Amino acid sequence: MSLTSAAIDNNRVKELIAVTSGVPASDGAGVKLTRIIGNAEVDMLDPFLMLDCFESDNPDDYLAGFPTHPHRGFETVTYLLNGRMRHKDNQGNEGVIAPGGVQWMTAGKGIMHSEMPEQQDGLLKGFQLWVNLPASAKMTEPAYQEFPAEQVALEQRDDGTVIRVISGVTDRGTRGPVVNHYTQPTYLDVSLKSGAEFSQSITNGHNSFIYVIEGQVQIAGRSLRAKQLGIFGEGEEILLSAPAATRFLLVAGKPLNEPVVRHGPFVMNTQAQIRQAVEDYHSGNF
Ligand code: MN
Repeated sequence: MSLTSAAIDNNRVKELIAVTSGVPASDGAGVKLTRIIGNAEVDMLDPFLMLDCFESDNPDDYLAGFPTHPHRGFETVTYLLNGRMRHKDNQGNEGVIAPGGVQWMTAGKGIMHSEMPEQQDGLLKGFQLWVNLPASAKMTEPAYQEFPAEQVALEQRDDGTVIRVISGVTDRGTRGPVVNHYTQPTYLDVSLKSGAEFSQSITNGHNSFIYVIEGQVQIAGRSLRAKQLGIFGEGEEILLSAPAATRFLLVAGKPLNEPVVRHGPFVMNTQAQIRQAVEDYHSGNF
Protein backbone atom coordinates (compact mmCIF):
# COMPACT_ATOMS: atom_id res chain seq x y z
CA MET A 1 0.00 0.00 0.00
CA SER A 2 1.26 3.47 -0.86
CA LEU A 3 0.99 6.38 1.51
CA THR A 4 -0.51 8.42 -1.29
CA SER A 5 -3.07 5.80 -2.21
CA ALA A 6 -6.61 7.12 -2.31
CA ALA A 7 -7.71 3.76 -0.98
CA ILE A 8 -6.49 4.45 2.52
CA ASP A 9 -9.25 4.62 5.07
CA ASN A 10 -7.90 7.31 7.36
CA ASN A 11 -10.01 6.15 10.26
CA ARG A 12 -7.90 3.04 10.46
CA VAL A 13 -4.51 4.72 10.23
CA LYS A 14 -2.83 5.42 13.52
CA GLU A 15 -1.54 8.84 14.48
CA LEU A 16 1.01 9.71 17.12
CA ILE A 17 -0.56 10.83 20.37
CA ALA A 18 2.70 11.50 22.24
CA VAL A 19 6.38 11.99 21.47
CA THR A 20 9.12 11.81 24.08
CA SER A 21 12.89 11.45 24.30
CA GLY A 22 13.10 9.72 27.66
CA VAL A 23 15.28 10.74 30.57
CA PRO A 24 18.89 9.91 31.48
CA ALA A 25 19.04 7.32 34.24
CA SER A 26 21.41 4.96 35.96
CA ASP A 27 20.62 1.39 36.98
CA GLY A 28 22.32 -1.79 38.08
CA ALA A 29 25.75 -0.97 39.46
CA GLY A 30 25.81 2.38 37.68
CA VAL A 31 25.05 1.66 34.03
CA LYS A 32 24.18 4.89 32.25
CA LEU A 33 21.09 4.57 30.11
CA THR A 34 18.07 6.42 28.80
CA ARG A 35 14.73 5.46 30.33
CA ILE A 36 12.23 5.92 27.53
CA ILE A 37 9.20 4.31 29.15
CA GLY A 38 8.79 4.03 32.90
CA ASN A 39 9.63 7.62 33.80
CA ALA A 40 7.73 10.64 35.08
CA GLU A 41 6.62 11.52 31.58
CA VAL A 42 5.50 8.08 30.38
CA ASP A 43 4.71 5.92 33.38
CA MET A 44 3.83 2.87 31.29
CA LEU A 45 2.08 1.88 28.09
CA ASP A 46 0.12 -1.19 29.13
CA PRO A 47 1.47 -3.93 28.94
CA PHE A 48 4.88 -2.24 28.59
CA LEU A 49 6.27 -1.19 31.96
CA MET A 50 9.67 0.07 30.95
CA LEU A 51 11.94 0.64 27.96
CA ASP A 52 15.60 1.38 28.54
CA CYS A 53 18.16 2.16 25.86
CA PHE A 54 21.80 1.77 26.75
CA GLU A 55 24.31 3.13 24.28
CA SER A 56 27.90 4.00 25.01
CA ASP A 57 31.41 3.36 23.77
CA ASN A 58 32.80 4.41 27.14
CA PRO A 59 33.36 1.31 29.32
CA ASP A 60 32.95 3.45 32.45
CA ASP A 61 29.30 3.85 31.47
CA TYR A 62 28.52 0.14 31.37
CA LEU A 63 31.27 -2.16 32.72
CA ALA A 64 29.77 -2.33 36.22
CA GLY A 65 26.78 -4.04 34.63
CA PHE A 66 23.77 -5.38 36.47
CA PRO A 67 25.04 -7.66 39.27
CA THR A 68 22.72 -10.23 40.81
CA HIS A 69 19.19 -8.90 41.25
CA PRO A 70 15.67 -10.36 41.38
CA HIS A 71 12.61 -10.03 39.16
CA ARG A 72 9.03 -11.13 39.78
CA GLY A 73 5.73 -10.70 37.99
CA PHE A 74 6.74 -9.68 34.47
CA GLU A 75 9.05 -10.34 31.52
CA THR A 76 12.32 -8.72 30.51
CA VAL A 77 13.27 -8.52 26.84
CA THR A 78 16.90 -7.75 26.06
CA TYR A 79 17.78 -6.95 22.45
CA LEU A 80 21.37 -6.09 21.60
CA LEU A 81 22.51 -4.10 18.57
CA ASN A 82 26.20 -3.86 19.52
CA GLY A 83 28.33 -5.51 22.15
CA ARG A 84 27.83 -8.63 24.25
CA MET A 85 26.01 -9.27 27.52
CA ARG A 86 26.42 -12.36 29.69
CA HIS A 87 23.47 -13.44 31.80
CA LYS A 88 23.54 -15.97 34.59
CA ASP A 89 20.73 -16.99 36.93
CA ASN A 90 20.35 -18.87 40.19
CA GLN A 91 18.87 -21.92 38.43
CA GLY A 92 22.00 -22.66 36.43
CA ASN A 93 21.01 -20.91 33.22
CA GLU A 94 23.78 -18.94 31.58
CA GLY A 95 24.45 -17.49 28.16
CA VAL A 96 25.72 -14.58 26.13
CA ILE A 97 23.54 -12.24 24.13
CA ALA A 98 25.46 -11.08 21.04
CA PRO A 99 24.59 -8.38 18.48
CA GLY A 100 21.20 -9.02 16.88
CA GLY A 101 20.31 -11.56 19.54
CA VAL A 102 17.33 -11.42 21.86
CA GLN A 103 16.50 -12.86 25.24
CA TRP A 104 12.83 -12.91 26.24
CA MET A 105 12.80 -13.87 29.91
CA THR A 106 9.58 -14.69 31.69
CA ALA A 107 10.55 -13.98 35.29
CA GLY A 108 7.21 -15.23 36.59
CA LYS A 109 7.34 -16.14 40.29
CA GLY A 110 10.93 -15.09 40.52
CA ILE A 111 14.43 -15.31 39.31
CA MET A 112 17.77 -13.97 40.51
CA HIS A 113 20.18 -13.13 37.77
CA SER A 114 23.06 -10.95 36.68
CA GLU A 115 23.46 -9.19 33.35
CA MET A 116 27.08 -8.20 32.73
CA PRO A 117 28.78 -6.72 29.67
CA GLU A 118 31.28 -9.28 28.47
CA GLN A 119 33.44 -6.84 26.57
CA GLN A 120 36.08 -4.58 28.08
CA ASP A 121 35.72 -1.79 25.51
CA GLY A 122 33.87 -0.82 22.35
CA LEU A 123 30.27 0.12 21.72
CA LEU A 124 27.52 -1.41 23.81
CA LYS A 125 24.08 -0.62 22.47
CA GLY A 126 20.75 -2.26 23.09
CA PHE A 127 17.36 -2.20 24.69
CA GLN A 128 15.59 -3.73 27.62
CA LEU A 129 11.83 -3.79 27.52
CA TRP A 130 9.72 -4.88 30.50
CA VAL A 131 6.45 -6.55 29.56
CA ASN A 132 3.84 -7.11 32.23
CA LEU A 133 2.31 -10.51 32.93
CA PRO A 134 -1.39 -11.00 33.65
CA ALA A 135 -2.39 -11.76 37.25
CA SER A 136 -2.93 -15.39 36.25
CA ALA A 137 0.71 -15.76 35.15
CA LYS A 138 2.64 -13.61 37.60
CA MET A 139 3.62 -16.66 39.64
CA THR A 140 4.30 -18.94 36.69
CA GLU A 141 7.58 -20.87 36.48
CA PRO A 142 10.42 -18.78 35.04
CA ALA A 143 11.13 -19.43 31.36
CA TYR A 144 13.47 -18.23 28.62
CA GLN A 145 13.09 -17.74 24.92
CA GLU A 146 16.53 -16.88 23.62
CA PHE A 147 17.56 -16.50 19.98
CA PRO A 148 20.86 -15.47 18.38
CA ALA A 149 20.75 -13.07 15.43
CA GLU A 150 20.58 -15.86 12.84
CA GLN A 151 17.40 -17.23 14.42
CA VAL A 152 15.60 -13.90 14.43
CA ALA A 153 13.30 -13.94 11.38
CA LEU A 154 14.51 -11.73 8.54
CA GLU A 155 12.31 -10.16 5.88
CA GLN A 156 14.02 -8.38 2.98
CA ARG A 157 11.84 -6.43 0.56
CA ASP A 158 12.54 -5.31 -3.01
CA ASP A 159 12.81 -1.65 -1.97
CA GLY A 160 15.70 -2.42 0.39
CA THR A 161 13.55 -2.62 3.51
CA VAL A 162 14.91 -5.07 6.08
CA ILE A 163 12.74 -6.25 8.96
CA ARG A 164 14.06 -8.31 11.84
CA VAL A 165 11.06 -9.97 13.43
CA ILE A 166 11.51 -10.93 17.06
CA SER A 167 7.85 -11.47 17.83
CA GLY A 168 4.58 -11.18 15.95
CA VAL A 169 4.07 -11.29 12.21
CA THR A 170 4.64 -8.75 9.44
CA ASP A 171 1.97 -7.88 6.90
CA ARG A 172 3.84 -10.14 4.47
CA GLY A 173 3.72 -13.10 6.81
CA THR A 174 7.18 -13.22 8.36
CA ARG A 175 6.78 -14.53 11.88
CA GLY A 176 9.20 -13.96 14.73
CA PRO A 177 10.49 -16.83 16.89
CA VAL A 178 9.24 -15.53 20.25
CA VAL A 179 5.82 -16.93 21.18
CA ASN A 180 3.85 -15.12 23.85
CA HIS A 181 0.17 -15.75 24.50
CA TYR A 182 -0.03 -13.39 27.47
CA THR A 183 0.27 -10.10 25.59
CA GLN A 184 0.63 -11.26 21.94
CA PRO A 185 3.50 -8.85 21.34
CA THR A 186 4.78 -7.54 18.05
CA TYR A 187 8.48 -6.61 18.17
CA LEU A 188 10.03 -5.50 14.88
CA ASP A 189 13.41 -3.93 14.10
CA VAL A 190 12.90 -2.16 10.78
CA SER A 191 15.48 -0.55 8.46
CA LEU A 192 14.28 1.59 5.55
CA LYS A 193 16.14 3.20 2.67
CA SER A 194 15.69 6.90 2.06
CA GLY A 195 12.34 7.53 0.39
CA ALA A 196 10.84 4.18 1.38
CA GLU A 197 7.35 3.77 2.76
CA PHE A 198 6.25 1.20 5.29
CA SER A 199 2.98 -0.10 6.63
CA GLN A 200 2.14 -2.61 9.32
CA SER A 201 -1.24 -3.61 10.64
CA ILE A 202 -1.66 -3.78 14.41
CA THR A 203 -4.32 -5.81 16.17
CA ASN A 204 -7.21 -3.56 17.12
CA GLY A 205 -6.93 -2.55 20.77
CA HIS A 206 -3.23 -3.29 21.13
CA ASN A 207 -1.04 -0.46 22.37
CA SER A 208 1.90 0.41 20.12
CA PHE A 209 4.98 2.58 19.94
CA ILE A 210 7.88 3.37 17.67
CA TYR A 211 11.42 4.19 18.77
CA VAL A 212 13.70 5.71 16.14
CA ILE A 213 17.23 4.31 16.40
CA GLU A 214 18.70 6.20 13.43
CA GLY A 215 17.48 8.66 10.83
CA GLN A 216 13.99 10.06 10.73
CA VAL A 217 10.42 8.98 9.96
CA GLN A 218 7.27 10.83 8.95
CA ILE A 219 4.02 9.67 10.49
CA ALA A 220 0.74 11.34 9.56
CA GLY A 221 2.52 14.62 8.83
CA ARG A 222 4.56 14.48 11.99
CA SER A 223 8.30 14.02 12.04
CA LEU A 224 10.07 11.76 14.48
CA ARG A 225 13.85 11.84 14.72
CA ALA A 226 16.51 9.56 16.15
CA LYS A 227 16.19 8.75 19.87
CA GLN A 228 12.55 9.78 19.98
CA LEU A 229 9.69 7.55 21.07
CA GLY A 230 6.30 7.97 19.46
CA ILE A 231 3.17 6.49 21.01
CA PHE A 232 0.39 5.60 18.59
CA GLY A 233 -3.28 6.21 19.17
CA GLU A 234 -6.17 4.03 18.09
CA GLY A 235 -6.38 2.48 14.67
CA GLU A 236 -5.39 -0.69 12.92
CA GLU A 237 -2.59 0.36 10.66
CA ILE A 238 0.75 2.10 11.00
CA LEU A 239 1.85 4.04 7.93
CA LEU A 240 5.13 5.87 7.73
CA SER A 241 7.72 7.14 5.32
CA ALA A 242 11.46 7.65 5.55
CA PRO A 243 12.70 11.05 4.33
CA ALA A 244 16.17 9.70 5.08
CA ALA A 245 17.47 6.21 5.71
CA THR A 246 16.19 5.07 9.07
CA ARG A 247 16.10 2.24 11.56
CA PHE A 248 13.44 1.90 14.24
CA LEU A 249 11.77 -0.47 16.67
CA LEU A 250 8.05 -1.02 16.26
CA VAL A 251 6.44 -2.65 19.27
CA ALA A 252 2.82 -3.48 20.09
CA GLY A 253 1.01 -5.60 22.65
CA LYS A 254 -2.32 -6.39 24.22
CA PRO A 255 -3.06 -4.24 27.26
CA LEU A 256 -3.82 -6.21 30.41
CA ASN A 257 -6.03 -3.55 32.04
CA GLU A 258 -5.18 -4.81 35.51
CA PRO A 259 -3.96 -2.93 38.60
CA VAL A 260 -0.17 -2.43 38.58
CA VAL A 261 1.78 -2.11 41.81
CA ARG A 262 5.51 -1.70 41.33
CA HIS A 263 8.41 -1.90 43.69
CA GLY A 264 11.70 -1.87 41.78
CA PRO A 265 12.15 -5.31 40.20
CA PHE A 266 8.79 -6.58 41.45
CA VAL A 267 5.61 -5.77 39.53
CA MET A 268 2.43 -7.23 40.98
CA ASN A 269 -1.29 -6.41 41.25
CA THR A 270 -1.54 -5.56 44.96
CA GLN A 271 0.55 -4.12 47.79
CA ALA A 272 0.18 -7.40 49.67
CA GLN A 273 1.77 -9.26 46.74
CA ILE A 274 4.64 -6.76 46.75
CA ARG A 275 5.17 -7.29 50.48
CA GLN A 276 5.22 -11.04 49.84
CA ALA A 277 7.79 -10.60 47.05
CA VAL A 278 10.07 -8.55 49.30
CA GLU A 279 9.67 -11.13 52.07
CA ASP A 280 10.40 -14.03 49.70
CA TYR A 281 13.45 -12.21 48.40
CA HIS A 282 14.86 -11.55 51.86
CA SER A 283 14.22 -15.11 52.98
CA GLY A 284 15.97 -16.54 49.94
CA ASN A 285 12.87 -17.96 48.28
CA PHE A 286 13.69 -16.87 44.75
MN1 MN B 1 17.44 -8.17 35.13
